[in-house]
Amino acid sequence: KSLAYLPAAGEPAWLGVMGGGQLGRMFAHAAQAMGYRVAVLEPSTDCPAGQVAERLVEAGYEDAAGLDALAAQCVAVTTEFENVPAASLSRLAQQVFVAPNAHGVSVAQDRIAEKSFFVACAGKSGVMPAPHKVIASDADIDAIADDLLPGILKTVRMGYDGKGQVRVRTREDVRAAFESMDRVTCLLEKMLPLAYEVSVLTARGADGQSVVYPIAENVHRDGILFTTTVPGPNVSDDCARKAQDAARAIVAELGYVGVLCIEFFVLADGSLVVNEMAPRPHNSGHYTIDACITSQFAQQVRAMAKLPLGDVRQHSPAVMLNILGDVWFEGETVREPAWDAVLALPGANLHLYGKTDPRRGRKMGHVTFVAPTLQEAQANFAQACSVLG
Ligand code: ADP
Ligand code: MG
Repeated sequence: KSLAYLPAAGEPAWLGVMGGGQLGRMFAHAAQAMGYRVAVLEPSTDCPAGQVAERLVEAGYEDAAGLDALAAQCVAVTTEFENVPAASLSRLAQQVFVAPNAHGVSVAQDRIAEKSFFVACAGKSGVMPAPHKVIASDADIDAIADDLLPGILKTVRMGYDGKGQVRVRTREDVRAAFESMDRVTCLLEKMLPLAYEVSVLTARGADGQSVVYPIAENVHRDGILFTTTVPGPNVSDDCARKAQDAARAIVAELGYVGVLCIEFFVLADGSLVVNEMAPRPHNSGHYTIDACITSQFAQQVRAMAKLPLGDVRQHSPAVMLNILGDVWFEGETVREPAWDAVLALPGANLHLYGKTDPRRGRKMGHVTFVAPTLQEAQANFAQACSVLG
């Protein structure tokens, strides 16, 4: 007898998701396409995932009654955001299958635990994180080794899209930055000379089988992902193989179930440095919706429902452009971007997240260009950039 949670066993099966953002919305689309119903737990009423889920459990992420309602409704629960309280996943796990579990999430949401984990599995993964040091007191600042500067001071918890980060050149900069962050525990990381950045999306099933997607090349602007290109124009076969092997070793070592994305830096000499991991589908994996046989969201459904993992092959070269709230602004005037002109471009796949309030730096959607060749996808992407300003 199958151990999988099939979509319809007499009555439709429900999948639950912690968090109501765009990742939850795209997860819901994938789950619904396979015949599942989706319940979302999220405190805010009008959220991207809540707009499409069959049920919104309107509750805080630590609300016991809300968590129990989600568990009672669902055959399995996942998370769409990294900072879900690990204790909430543990509470859910007493009642229902939860993937990823509290352990994997708690390592990924704490930069100290994450870096220590990367160091501990370096023997198997073949990659190390950037040189770093925990900054929790003035004495820690006094003890900073000279070669850790210039660096980046990052809050240990709750950082995303470059938030909770300050670039520092001197010990005095570190002191000022530490004060500006209200002296929460931070990690000082040596600033590395990046040649380019890549990420590897992986998924591991409850049976321990894992899959690794093609390596993605990412460009960030102001700490926020700007564009993802697959195949990456800078990525050598050797770099791709090393990053994919490292990713496979890391998910196995974590005993993880679900979709996990690992970010790497590539330095000028071609060496690979592991940066961080996200215990969920990832912005740099959005290209899989339009360019791979199984999207990262369909893969998450398969992993959490204990179904066989899907084929990760890419059928078309792809360039993904993030759409931030900035493109709604013309000076101080807010107006709708020319989506018709974007959609007139060959191979354009537009995804908007249902957010009604465009703000600068806010992720509102993305558009992925697919084409028979990477050059064509890049040309149409360039056109879209000029349409969107
Ligand atoms: P976030 O959680 O905000 O994504 P990251 O640690 O990934 O935090 O940092 C965001 C971006 O800042 C990275 O993608 C990279 O471009 C840059 N960055 C972070 N750490 C370093 C570093 N040690 N050296 C050089 N650039 C870095
Ligand atoms: Mg990052």
